[in-house]
Amino acid sequence: MSTPSAAPESDRNQLVSELRWKKFPVLDDGFVCLVDVMGDDSSVVQAARVSYGEGTKRVSDDRTLIRYLLRHRHTTPFEMAEIKFLVRVPMDCWRQWVRHRTANINEYSTRYSLAIDAAQATPEDEWRSQAESNRQGSGGFLPPEIGQQLTQQETELQSQLRTVYQQRIDSGVAREQARKDLPLATYTEAYWKIDLHNLLHFLALRMDSHAQLEIRNYATAIGENIVRPLFPVVWEAFLDYRMQAMFLTRLDCGVIQRLTSSAASAGTSPPFDDASFLAAQDPAWVSLTRSRERDECRIKLERLGLLRPVELLRPVEN
Ligand SMILES: Cc1cc2nc3c(=O)[nH]c(=O)nc-3n(C[C@H](O)[C@H](O)[C@H](O)COP(=O)(O)OP(=O)(O)OC[C@H]3O[C@@H](n4cnc5c(N)ncnc54)[C@H](O)[C@@H]3O)c2cc1C
Repeated sequence: MSTPSAAPESDRNQLVSELRWKKFPVLDDGFVCLVDVMGDDSSVVQAARVSYGEGTKRVSDDRTLIRYLLRHRHTTPFEMAEIKFLVRVPMDCWRQWVRHRTANINEYSTRYSLAIDAAQATPEDEWRSQAESNRQGSGGFLPPEIGQQLTQQETELQSQLRTVYQQRIDSGVAREQARKDLPLATYTEAYWKIDLHNLLHFLALRMDSHAQLEIRNYATAIGENIVRPLFPVVWEAFLDYRMQAMFLTRLDCGVIQRLTSSAASAGTSPPFDDASFLAAQDPAWVSLTRSRERDECRIKLERLGLLRPVELLRPVEN
């Protein structure tokens, strides 16, 4: 596979003009689109070389430098690039989005204008059950007959709420008050501007399997369609050192050391069974019937091919 490299100026301009205002659809009526971008992969390099001097040119090319910076969490060079988006998002999802304080926002005003006449609707086959092991997450999909009923109920409810809103407006109620009973599924639009460092932080949290599916869809659309082509070298490093990387705690390292050294003495090889894992677990977990940290450690070891999958103990992902 060839490694990504910075595009020549003319290719870059063409890429940006192709991407600008192109709406990438998300959910049933949402989108993300690029409005403006300042900088590219080379802006990160340029900023870093101010700190490290031209000497770095000798020991590391641009790609190596970007990868080093991201791996070692040197954040400020990534703040030198900025991206502005226009997004259309249901309000419940937007409520999670605006928790990311390091962005600049201008949102459509439903005090000033009529609320956007669109609410996110859930298709019959997309109602998710409550996850049993993760209070914040979803489990599998509900059966179709239940989904059908829920979708029908939702359609009626959203239509009724919109009618009541319109009646209030027609009766002369101020827009700022008339909106109070609109559903959280109502779409809003906003300009959202953020630097590359904080955008990657947002993407790392919101593309993660622990994030709610709806915002995950938005983050993935931004990452895959906009950040990846605009910052190919940074994106590659982001996948390698954030999204597809694994964080091992001191306790995890201890488990791995005990597991591998007892396997070496016994002459066994991975993947090990759960009994071996439990024998090597951290002493602090031994007395606990349930331990999220132990379960997380199991999942990491499975990913490393050190442990056989233990289906019953796996937390349900949302
Ligand atoms: C899966 C998931 C579940 C969540 N569940 C909940 C929940 O149940 N309840 C809830 O309230 N929130 C929840 N959140 C929101 C979460 O706690 C954060 O508020 C949100 O993810 C924004 O992260 P951030 O503060 O790191 O990002 P940003 O606000 O973009 O900040 C980026 C970084 O800048 C620094 N920073 C920014 N502002 C300040 C400041 N004022 N002081 C010091 N440092 C600052 C911090 O280092 C921060 O990490 C959840 C988030 C996720 C991803």
